[in-house]
Amino acid sequence: MAAAETYQMPEADERQMLDSIQKWIEKKVAPVAMDLEHADEWPAALVEDMKELGLFGALIDPEYGGLGLSAATYSKIVMMIAEEWMSLTGIFNSHLMMAQIVQRFGTDRQKEYWLPKFATGELRGGLGLTEPDAGTDLQAIRTTARLEGGKYIVNGAKTWISNAIKGHACALLVKTDTGAEPRYKGMSMLIVSKIDPETGAALPGIRNGQKLEKLGYKGIDSGEFIFEDYACDAELSLVGGEEGQGFFMATGGLEIGRINIAARSVGIAKRALRESVAYSQTRKTMGKPICEHQAIQLKLGDMAARTRAAELLVEDAARAYDTGARIDMEAGMAKYFASETAVEVATEAMRIHGGYGYSKEYVIERLYRDAPLMCIGEGTNELQRIIIAKQLIKRNPV
Ligand SMILES: Cc1cc2nc3c(=O)[nH]c(=O)nc-3n(C[C@H](O)[C@H](O)[C@H](O)COP(=O)(O)OP(=O)(O)OC[C@H]3O[C@@H](n4cnc5c(N)ncnc54)[C@H](O)[C@@H]3O)c2cc1C
Repeated sequence: MAAAETYQMPEADERQMLDSIQKWIEKKVAPVAMDLEHADEWPAALVEDMKELGLFGALIDPEYGGLGLSAATYSKIVMMIAEEWMSLTGIFNSHLMMAQIVQRFGTDRQKEYWLPKFATGELRGGLGLTEPDAGTDLQAIRTTARLEGGKYIVNGAKTWISNAIKGHACALLVKTDTGAEPRYKGMSMLIVSKIDPETGAALPGIRNGQKLEKLGYKGIDSGEFIFEDYACDAELSLVGGEEGQGFFMATGGLEIGRINIAARSVGIAKRALRESVAYSQTRKTMGKPICEHQAIQLKLGDMAARTRAAELLVEDAARAYDTGARIDMEAGMAKYFASETAVEVATEAMRIHGGYGYSKEYVIERLYRDAPLMCIGEGTNELQRIIIAKQLIKRNPV
């Protein structure tokens, strides 16, 4: 199930693409991010821009209408956008995790059917793993799918799903054999949709529950999916055409998700550092700018070193992903270190800004609210350390 090595864009082309995205960030995102964030408003106009920029197809092969970017280039884009407004990156990344599952593990027919629709961003979605009683312990999920006359009949509920409400589709982890031992052998991955992808008509048996209110990560919707005898075509929906592979697909899909979370974390940390370097030169106490106080210099030194180290770990994990190998350890290290860095750097930035860091007029309070999610999403950091340790043992047998 390993993917082939990914095409690497020539440096000049990559530079050009990153420059055009940077211009879009400055011109379109920066002026509205603060207002949309505080209103918790879904950024409809920016989503249209992101469709045009091709971001919903960033990792999808050109033969299916995507940009076919490497993870290395993609993670740079994520860092840049997260430096301005982290929420935006979730709208296309959760979607691309769903697309990557089809691209890496789907049948030819499934790729031809789903990927062109995903690449344009007309059919958007995310990854449906978590349930009210199962997050870290994915094998405890209770959503079931039973095969009946060429269709899967799905029953159950998912929660905390990014893009559940404003999106349409979802890569859904289900149990196709509830009695299987070990439990992961009874798990399968389905692509499901709230609308008929051909006609756009709403489908029965699948609906959203409530929109979940959050500390940060505003603008993007996090919601519930409820399935009541939802029926979907087995040949199009069961990823790879074989039951029992869902757990591996979910964890494989999470690799790019973890690189993305790490890249988002670097974006948050870079912004917090940049704001702190600037603010500390203008804010004066005891007759001099605070950047001349050694206590502030120690903070800035720590923040800069950690942020750069996190960036290098992201580059390392992205390069490894592009070889097509399984990279649980590299993605785990990047995700763990970068997200802890985002929390530390955002917290230090708030201290450097004093009372102003606590004000909604400054971006620091947003970075401070957004950073902790990076430690939870795509597998908590407790889990990441366990994954790193298990991989260390596996790769270094005595
Ligand atoms: C804003 C937001 C967006 C999200 N988006 C999505 C999404 O798009 N799709 C999706 O499927 N999910 C999504 N999630 C869910 C997220 O992936 C889970 O919250 C996360 O995996 C943790 O699961 P949990 O909340 O059930 O915590 P639990 O699994 O209950 O964990 C609680 C605590 O116990 C620790 N713990 C658990 N097991 C162990 C162990 N074996 N050893 C040591 N410590 C352990 C955890 O690290 C954590 O500290 C999102 C969550 C949030 C908050």
